[in-house]
Amino acid sequence: MKRNEYIINRIFTPLRNWSWLFIPLVALVGLWYPKMGLLMIPMMIALPILGFFKGKFWCGNICPHGSLFDRFIYPISFNKKIPAWAKAKITLVLAFIFFMFMFTKRVLAVTALWGTTPFLDKLGFIFVMNYFMVTIIGTFLAFFINPRTWCRFCPMATFQLLAYKLGKFLKANKKTDAVITISNNQECLNCGKCAKVCPVDLSPYQEISTKGQLENEACIRCSTCVVYCPVNILSLKCHQT
Ligand code: SF4
Ligand code: SF4
Repeated sequence: MKRNEYIINRIFTPLRNWSWLFIPLVALVGLWYPKMGLLMIPMMIALPILGFFKGKFWCGNICPHGSLFDRFIYPISFNKKIPAWAKAKITLVLAFIFFMFMFTKRVLAVTALWGTTPFLDKLGFIFVMNYFMVTIIGTFLAFFINPRTWCRFCPMATFQLLAYKLGKFLKANKKTDAVITISNNQECLNCGKCAKVCPVDLSPYQEISTKGQLENEACIRCSTCVVYCPVNILSLKCHQT
């Protein structure tokens, strides 16, 4: 794939275009005003709720880091294939355990300050540092490998995924979760365009189930494959029963 072809292969809603502004607000302003980190609390509450009903929708439509990687790093990235280690379950599990362990340890340490003046600053600073580190690591991977490398094992994405699995187990998200759906298999050209433009390296035309839907939970519901399919046979639709 030619580099310039790659550069146009992202689609942006206004939210995807601008949500990256949340990063300097938290990860930079927060270095001087740590309470900015507390803005992440509503985000951490919203993530599992959205994940429960819509899988990794956040990653493809709202996430400030996704917006940063797609908008600013994508045009200059090496844009290699996302490596197998980044997609492996073990990486995802280890990253999640490490994040939760460190986060819980730091929050517990700060609870000793509950009721004192520095409590909110110290708590906010935990979030600021987390966001700052994700920005550094994610940007490094985005530039040298692929813009969405981090997204394959991001602990926040795993958080959504766990909530999504619970929603599936309880059969509570059948009507709210829209997945990639093919309208007519016979019309597929097998051109592989949907796979080439997928930011997280999925291959919709090869992975579609007999029900005509993409069940891969790594899909971030970004609609890029929908827009770029030359015969318009892909769409996001709720689960077929
Ligand atoms: S399969 Fe389509 S909707 Fe899902 S992540 Fe890939 S491009 Fe986006
Ligand atoms: S882009 Fe459309 S036509 Fe091409 S392989 Fe994918 S689903 Fe088939």
